[in-house]
Formats: sequence, structure tokens, C-alpha cells
Amino acid sequence: MGTPQTPHHETTAGRHNGGMPTTLAASSAPAGHAAAVRYLVGEWFAQHRRELPWREPGCSPWGVLVSEIMLQQTPVVRVLPRWLEWMDRWPDPAALAEAPTADVLRAWGRLGYPRRALRLQECARALVAEHEGAVPADEESLLALPGIGTYTAAAVLSFAFHRRATVLDTNVRRVLARVFDGMALPPPHLSRVERDRADALVPADPEDAAVWAAASMELGALVCTARSPQCQDCPVVRLCAWNRAGLPPDEHSHLRRRQAWHGTDRQTRGAVMALLRSEGTFSHGQLIARIEAPAGQVDRCLLGLCSDGLAVRVEAEGTRYYRLPE
Ligand code: SF4
Repeated sequence: MGTPQTPHHETTAGRHNGGMPTTLAASSAPAGHAAAVRYLVGEWFAQHRRELPWREPGCSPWGVLVSEIMLQQTPVVRVLPRWLEWMDRWPDPAALAEAPTADVLRAWGRLGYPRRALRLQECARALVAEHEGAVPADEESLLALPGIGTYTAAAVLSFAFHRRATVLDTNVRRVLARVFDGMALPPPHLSRVERDRADALVPADPEDAAVWAAASMELGALVCTARSPQCQDCPVVRLCAWNRAGLPPDEHSHLRRRQAWHGTDRQTRGAVMALLRSEGTFSHGQLIARIEAPAGQVDRCLLGLCSDGLAVRVEAEGTRYYRLPE
């Protein structure tokens, strides 16, 4: 397959549908190999992108922000029903800011890492207090909000406001490490070299930049997955260094922290939160009896949940009770 030196592109008018453009324009492509990768991934995206409500033309910046927080640790299929419910109930920051925290944690359900729900409500309150209830369109203001880090700020700038930003999540890092470095997975920590390369790949045109961000993420989510990449369906298979090298093993595997689940505090915290969400208030004795974990671990998790603001301890008639915060 030859590298497309003069790829055809749609006209600017054809790329706009009122929301995020779906194809890349011809402007400012980097030279050679990188240009070909970007072009092919963009073409693939135009054909294979999933229709998701936070990508629709009418989606507000708040909807984009909520989707990005939910998607940080959770796959699309689990996020989708929660996001729809959430936006129906709290369509703007002001609505979420006023909601009882217990309702917010219940609505978060089993998306996992429920501290995200608390941060999202804190973020909504900050938006009301400092930005008249609107999501700001500049990086500095976004980064100053609770729960918003470099990745989320870039994603909101790119997807909600079509500003040029380097959106570098784990999916994109994996795709770039495979295609350009011939590695199974990127190093555990993001390096300056990786960030500089990702910056260089971002098209100059802000709308193209948004397409490239979404397209490279989508390729990582659907085709170039962590465990079973579908190289036979990949638009850049013939340009991919890792594929050409015969898919060598992960050279950083000894540096990665294994994410065990069974028997961990994370599992126990999840079990406690599930009970508090579904059935309200429990005495300490009831929790010890119902959670399948050693009492010491349950106590440790209760302490952690209370200090994280996810649960509240109350004393009544000499008995300890736990419930969600109000
Ligand atoms: S060829 Fe395979 S490893 Fe390379 S980018 Fe495509 S799916 Fe990923």
C-alpha cells in the first residue's frame, strides 16, 4: 500500500454538520509517515465512528464534560445509559450543584470510582459560583475546576469548543506507541517525548484537531485494543511498527502495577457503597455481617469512604451507623 501523498479531502463546507466535523481537511498535515497515519485514521473514523449523544451537534459543553469524567475509567457501553439518565436529570451545572449528594452517588450507580461523582458535583458548584453556570472555554479556567486534569481539559476544549488541543488518553498513547515505536504498550508514565510527538501530530486547524483526537481514541477503543488488537481490520496495519515487528511482548511489563480486584479494598469499598446506595443506613454490625470481607478490612474501608466524603458516620444510642452524605 502506498503512502497517500496527495490525499483527497472533502471541502470545508462538506465537513460541517453543525456538530463535530467527521473528516479531516487537507490543511497542515505533517509530512510522510505521520501524515499517512493521520489521514488513514481520519478516513477510517469517517466510516466507523460510533454515534454517541455527546458527539451530537446539540450536546452542550456540560454534556461533553460529564461524558469525559464518566469515560475516564469506564467503557462507553456502561457510561451511555448513565449519561442519558444524568443529563435528563441534571441538564446543566446549576441543576447538579443543587442536587442532594446522596442522589448524585445513587445516580452514579456502578460506574466505579465514585469519587468522580463527588468531584463532578464540586465542579458544578464551582461553575455556578465562578462561571455563571457555564463551562469555560479556556484551559486555565478548566484546569482550576475540581476533578479536571490535563486530559479532561484538553478533551473539553477539543470536543466541546473545537479548540486545538492535544488529547492524549490511554487509547491514543497505545495506538501511537504501537504505530511509531513498535511497542506493545507505552511506558507506565507519560514521557516528554510522547507528549511532544502527540503535540506534533495535532492538525493546525482546530476542527481537524478535534477529528484527529476523536478518531485516534476511537481506533484505540474499537480496533487497537489493549488485549486483542484487530490488526486485520486496522487502517494503518501496513504502517504500524509493532505489527511489522511481529507483535513483540510488552517490554515494560515488569514495571506495571497489577490491578487485582478480588479481595482488595477496592472490591470491599464497592460492596459497602452498593449497600449504602441501595438500602440507606446501616449499623456497623450490619455492615460487618453483610460484607464478605474480614472485619478489619471493612473497618479500614469505612474509614476511607468517610474521609473521602463518600459516606457519613453517625452515632445514635451508642451505635455507629453509616449512610451516604446528604
Ligand atoms: S496494526 Fe494492529 S497494533 Fe498496529 S495500530 Fe493497527 S490494530 Fe494497533
